[in-house]
Amino acid sequence: METTSTFRLLDGKAISAAYRQDIAREVEQLRAAGKRAPHLSAILVGANGASETYVASKIKNCKEVGFESSLFRFPDTVTEAELLDKINSINNDSSIDGLLVQLPLPKHISVQRITETISPEKDVDGFHPLNQGRMVQNLPCYLPATPYGIMLMLEHEGITTAGKHCVVIGRSNIVGMPMSILMSRNADPGNATVTLCHSRSTDLSAITRTADILIAAIGKPRFVTSDMVKEGAVVIDVGIIRIEDSSTKSGYRITGDVDFENVAPKCSYISPVPGGVGLMTIVGLLKNTLRAAKGEVKFSF
Ligand code: NAP
Repeated sequence: METTSTFRLLDGKAISAAYRQDIAREVEQLRAAGKRAPHLSAILVGANGASETYVASKIKNCKEVGFESSLFRFPDTVTEAELLDKINSINNDSSIDGLLVQLPLPKHISVQRITETISPEKDVDGFHPLNQGRMVQNLPCYLPATPYGIMLMLEHEGITTAGKHCVVIGRSNIVGMPMSILMSRNADPGNATVTLCHSRSTDLSAITRTADILIAAIGKPRFVTSDMVKEGAVVIDVGIIRIEDSSTKSGYRITGDVDFENVAPKCSYISPVPGGVGLMTIVGLLKNTLRAAKGEVKFSF
């Protein structure tokens, strides 16, 4: 079988930089109009290495586009009541536009209770059920940052999604499920015919081989192999997995859900890990925060 071999890289670094530039310009315009800069708050619990890195990167990106940011740290012995108190005080603080609580949280804290306590008007991660319900109905809302970032990536690269078969592997509330909804919505990008796969799907390869657009959000290193991919497919790798590697300074390296080296030659487009979707997630978060500062999503209660 002939291989495409001239795949195009979905370069998260370059694409996210273009979006960040637009966001920075909008912040300047807000400031010029006498308004304050958008303000994102993050809550970080415990000392999880990956969470530290993600939050530091979010704060750094806020600075770069001219946002205000604030970080509230708690030890992993924090009680749920203490966290809920902090969230409520941020909900009532009119100088803060967006709030995220970095996951994962210690086992004694209910992620659902935390998620539902964040005001849906400040829910810039897009995890609140009210935002997700509105997303399903194609109403104004904050989209979950990672699927939103992927839609922006597709839009930026002018990739046609209408009428295509999109296969999503993974059905989490934060990535796979909303991704499947966004790709099937009557919107552009969107209008795809979507199949959502998970660990109970049978003959997964037979399904993925029919995908024009394949989105992998599983969390298993190099799970998607070349025999699972159709010639000319667009492949988007959401996975971020830390693998021990004594040859690196940190002692680990990051890999994705896709066996990039062997899959890429079959693709029309493919996103790398690192340097792909992760950077677009931050763009999704920044855009949501900018929209929050502009009061674009309102709930009437
Ligand atoms: P998750 O909640 O663990 O969900 C994983 C999904 O994969 C589940 O729906 C699971 O199916 C499915 N799955 C597991 N094994 C499978 C198999 N053998 N065949 C088919 N499906 C299988 O993970 P997540 O939060 O969605 O994250 C997925 C990956 O994306 C992780 O590596 C995470 O670190 C990464 N991530 C990256 C970003 C980014 O910005 N790039 C953002 C968020 C997450 P069941 O539902 O049946 O268990």
